[in-house]
Amino acid sequence: MAVPKRKTSPSRRNMRRSHDALTATTFQECPNCGELKLPHNLCQACGHYNGREIVAAAD
Ligand SMILES: [Zn+2]
Repeated sequence: MAVPKRKTSPSRRNMRRSHDALTATTFQECPNCGELKLPHNLCQACGHYNGREIVAAAD
């Protein structure tokens, strides 16, 4: 079995982890009802997408 010759230094370990940070989810305001929604997704509050109602409002 292949085994690493050297212990990974803290610097190498941290350089590897420099890409591991989580990014916060972005939101957009729905042009129909103003509720926050995910971009390119149906509005969960009013069921609109691209200016028209796709799914009937849940209320
Ligand atoms: Zn909406």
